[in-house]
Amino acid sequence: MSISYIDEIKNLQGKKIFVRVDFNVPLDDNQNITDDTRIRAVLPTINHALDGNAKVIIASHLGRPKGERNIKYSMAPAAKRLSRLLDKDVTLAPDCIGNEVTTILDGMKPGDIVMLENLRFHPGEEKNDPDFAKALAEHSDIYVNDAFAVSHRAHASVEAITRFVPIAVAGFLMKNEMNYFEKSMKNPIRPLVAILGGAKVSGKIELVENLINKVDKIIVGGGMAFTFLKALGFNVGKSLVEEQLVETALKAYNMAREKGIKFYLPVDCVAADQFNPTAETKVTTIQEIPQDWMALDIGPATLTLFTEAIQNAKTIIWNGPMGVFEMDAFSRGTFAMVSAVANSYALTIVGGGDTDVAIHRAGEFAKISYISTGGGAFLELLEGKILPGIKVLEDKSNNLP
Ligand code: AMP
Repeated sequence: MSISYIDEIKNLQGKKIFVRVDFNVPLDDNQNITDDTRIRAVLPTINHALDGNAKVIIASHLGRPKGERNIKYSMAPAAKRLSRLLDKDVTLAPDCIGNEVTTILDGMKPGDIVMLENLRFHPGEEKNDPDFAKALAEHSDIYVNDAFAVSHRAHASVEAITRFVPIAVAGFLMKNEMNYFEKSMKNPIRPLVAILGGAKVSGKIELVENLINKVDKIIVGGGMAFTFLKALGFNVGKSLVEEQLVETALKAYNMAREKGIKFYLPVDCVAADQFNPTAETKVTTIQEIPQDWMALDIGPATLTLFTEAIQNAKTIIWNGPMGVFEMDAFSRGTFAMVSAVANSYALTIVGGGDTDVAIHRAGEFAKISYISTGGGAFLELLEGKILPGIKVLEDKSNNLP
C-alpha cells in the first residue's frame, strides 16, 4: 500500500491545513538557532500550501519539555526563522489547543500561517492520547505529515490525529524520504552496499539482520566492528566489545556468508592507550592491537579495502561513523570514507545524526544523493519496520477528494 501526498489534493483554496513538521532545531544559550536545516527542509510543503491559498497551521515539538509548559522550549525562535525564510508574518499561538488557539485559527484568512506552541507542552502528545489528538485536529480540513524524523513514534500529532481528520497525506520532505528509501531498499540498482558504523551492535543487530537479506555487500566499521572481530576470534584489546552479542554477531556474519554476501570488517585500526583526544596512538593491524589499548578509528589499509569494496557499487546506504570522529585523532577514517562515498558513482543515501554531521563537517554534502532527515526513523525503515506515522497515512490513502 502507498501513501498520498499533498500535491495530489486538487483544491487547497481556503482549507485549513495542519502540517506536522519537525522543527526540533538546535539552539544556543541565547535561544538562537544554530542550524535551520529542519526548517528549510519543509519549505516546499509550506510554500505549496500557501501557493494554493490555504490557511496553514504548523505544529512541532522542540526539545524535551516532558509534558509541561516550559518557555525554554518555546517554538518562538522557529516561528521567527520561518517568518524570515518565507518573508511573511508567522503568528505564534500561545498554545497548541484551547480557546485562545481556536480564536486565532478561526480568524485565519487564506494565505495566513500560524505556528502552534510546542506540542510536547502537553503530556497527551507523547502518550498518543486520543482526546489531545482530537483537540489538535478540531480545526483542520487536511492533515499533512512532513515530519519524517518523528514518524517512527506513535505520538498524538503523528498517529492518533489521523483518526480525527477527513484527509491525511504526507508532504514533500516525506516524499523525498520515501522515494530514496524505495530506490535504495525496495528497487535498488545493484550492487547495493551497506556501510555501518557507530558505537554499538546493540540497537543495530536487527538492522544487520534485515540488511543481510537485501544487500550485496556489507561493510562494518566503527566500534560495532569489534564485536564481530571478537566473534571471529581476534583479540581486540580494550576495544568496544559487547560480550553478550558476540554469538549473535557470529550468527549474522555466518548467515551473510552463507547467502554469498560479501562482509567486510576492518583489517587495521588507529589504536589508543586511552579514550582521550591526547592519548598515545598508533596504527596497528587488528591482529596486533596491544592488550590494554583500544581501536578508535579504522586504519589506512581498511580505508583502502573499504574504498575498493564500494568501487562497483550502484547504490550505497550508510549509517554510522567509522571511528570516534568527534576527536581529531580518530576522525580521519570517517572523513576519508565520506570522501570515498561522495566520489563514488553510486546513488548514495546517508542517514543517522552522526553520519550527517561528519558529511557536513567534511563539506561533502552536495555530493551525497540524499541525506535523510530522520535518524531513528531512517534506521527503523532500514530494519524493515513499518513506521506508525506512515502506516496511518497508508490507511487513509483512499480518502482523497
Ligand atoms: P551510533 O550512535 O551508534 O551511530 O554511534 C556513534 C558514535 O560511535 C560516535 O559518537 C562515535 O564516537 C562512536 N564510535 C565510532 N567508532 C568507535 C570506536 N571504535 N570505539 C568507540 N566509539 C566509537
